[in-house]
Order: sequence, then C-alpha cells, then structure tokens
Amino acid sequence: MKIALIAHDKKKNDMIKLAKKYCNVLSRHELYATGTTGTLVMGETGLKINRMKSGPLGGDQQIGSMIANSELDLVIFLRDPLTAQPHEPDVSALLRLCDVTNIPLATNISSSEIMLNALGREEIICRKELDEK
Ligand code: PGA
Repeated sequence: MKIALIAHDKKKNDMIKLAKKYCNVLSRHELYATGTTGTLVMGETGLKINRMKSGPLGGDQQIGSMIANSELDLVIFLRDPLTAQPHEPDVSALLRLCDVTNIPLATNISSSEIMLNALGREEIICRKELDEK
C-alpha cells in the first residue's frame, strides 16, 4: 500500500508519536509525506519515506496529484483545525480529492489509530484491488 503522512505544525508531535507506535505496520508499506513531516518522522523512527515539497510550498498539491493519479491508497493528514493555514486551498483540495476518489482518509489521531490497526490486521485492501472488484 502507498500511504501519505501529513501533519500541520501543531500536530507534528502527534504524528511522530503515531509513527513510532505503528512503526511495524508502517514499515511494511510505501510511505510518502510532505517535506517537514517526512523529515521529522524519518529522523525519529528511521522509516523510509518519500518526501514531497513542504506543504505550504506545494507538497499538499503534489500529494493531491498522486491521489488524482491513483498512486496513493491511504492518507493520514493530522490537520490543525484551530490555526489558519496560508495554504488552506491546497489542504481543502487534497481532502476533497480523497473523497472524490474514495481513498481512506484520517484527519485526527483517533481515526488514524483505527485505520492503522485495521491495516496491521490486513483489513484494508488497496484501491487497485477495490477497483478490480
Ligand atoms: P509540512 O507540510 O510537512 O512540510 O510541514 C504539511 C502541511 O502543512 O501541509
């Protein structure tokens, strides 16, 4: 599975904790992340992550483009709903594309944990397999 990890600044520590807790699950998949999130998670966990540009500099759009091209299977985006983001249009576009293409999307810790637990039990199948059914 191809998984994208994105966290707004005030959620980056949560993302690091999540990645550490589910390192065994995540390490079995192909990981992508926006620039800063990817650098931090790689540094703290040793996971191999393909990094895009930083979110405000186009990273969210790059991830969005992967979603539109059916190149991602699951997105964990720890958004900060209490802080205005300069790249809010890019954030909305990414979230919208997940819904347009029916990609599993978790935007907070609780839903991320449910998703990663299901992934650990191999209960989530990748999008290509879904499309073939
Ligand atoms: P960042 O981007 O990981 O480069 O900080 C995340 C975002 O704000 O979209």
